Amino acid sequence: MSVRPMLPGSTIGILGGGQLGRMIGLEARRMGYDVVCLDPTPDSPCGQIAREQIVAPFDDVGAARRLGKASDLIVYEFENIPFPVVEMLEQEFRLPQGSRILRISQHRGREKTALAEAGFPVAPFRLVGDAAGLRRAVHELGLPCVLKTCAGGYDGKGQMVLNAPPDLEAAAAELDAGPPLTGEWIVEKFVFFLCEASVIVARQETGQTTTYPVGENAHRANVLHSTVVPARIDRALQAEAEALGEDIADALGLVGLMAIELFVTPGGLIVNELAPRPHNSGHYTWDASVTSQFEQLLRATGGLPLGSTRLLTPVVMINILGEHVPAVLSGMPCFPDNVKVHLYGKRGAPAARRKMGHLNVLGGDPDAVLHWADRLYQGRAI
Ligand code: AMP
Repeated sequence: MSVRPMLPGSTIGILGGGQLGRMIGLEARRMGYDVVCLDPTPDSPCGQIAREQIVAPFDDVGAARRLGKASDLIVYEFENIPFPVVEMLEQEFRLPQGSRILRISQHRGREKTALAEAGFPVAPFRLVGDAAGLRRAVHELGLPCVLKTCAGGYDGKGQMVLNAPPDLEAAAAELDAGPPLTGEWIVEKFVFFLCEASVIVARQETGQTTTYPVGENAHRANVLHSTVVPARIDRALQAEAEALGEDIADALGLVGLMAIELFVTPGGLIVNELAPRPHNSGHYTWDASVTSQFEQLLRATGGLPLGSTRLLTPVVMINILGEHVPAVLSGMPCFPDNVKVHLYGKRGAPAARRKMGHLNVLGGDPDAVLHWADRLYQGRAI
């Protein structure tokens, strides 16, 4: 199977103007592509570096068609794009990532069902639509559980941990009181993990795949805080995670790039979530890998050979949330020379918990780097 390669000089259309779009766009620019994007917020992070931003809501089919007409290749940078728009773009233009995996990953219920049916390890789960269903599911699974909305939740939004019967009753009351949810909740058995990890896999239309080294992720209040690469887990487990990533990419017919979030448990790996696009836990690749995840997405979708995923140096990625921005700016004159600062150009006052940038700290002992970041964010001397 041969795919027409998308050569520099062509225009990449990016659906979504956030930080992922910006980093895809910056890599595209470096490689000699032109960039247009579509996002409802004017002067979006990607819009700032694109030749043009189409400012329109994501459900505006006419605007999406304008993006399609301006582009030789379209990529999406996030999952929550209305399905009819993606379907139209897939039919009328070149959108190699396609709509299928997007549709699966837009809905936690579909995602977990697809993974379980294909034989991949996931936490036991049930789909529920009301309080009675929730009680039944929790009775079957046993406490503790995690209740999540199937659609729209991210970074822990729309999630409740049910540790004890009163938590179950509080959640049941919320389900009863809320708007009709048409069966759109998933209850999962709580997983007692040793650590969280992720593996990023790229796959071409031809079936060629490549994986990045496994990252070890730490979340704080459900938002990713740091990624340590290589992950400090057994080498055999790292190889298992990479193989799992490739198998999932093959099973789902991935074209493009996908992050697979994993729980590392004493009994082995459990898949938590898929993201069929560049991922926060792959931001380290920008400075520490031969090929960044953003370039790899362009290569995979553009029919170019996949780049090397070799790690050039151990690295720790630390997110900069809104509340960290003042400390980063005031501490920057004293940063060690191995710290690369990435800021996304988000306009307005930095809101708490909003992802504003990240640090890639190259080399060094991961624990010392994480300690350094904690001191920085606590406003202590670094
Ligand atoms: P998610 O939005 O599914 O990625 O979940 C956000 C975070 O919540 C994960 O990174 C975990 O730290 C935690 N989490 C989600 N599901 C579970 C689970 N079944 N068991 C334990 N922790 C979970």
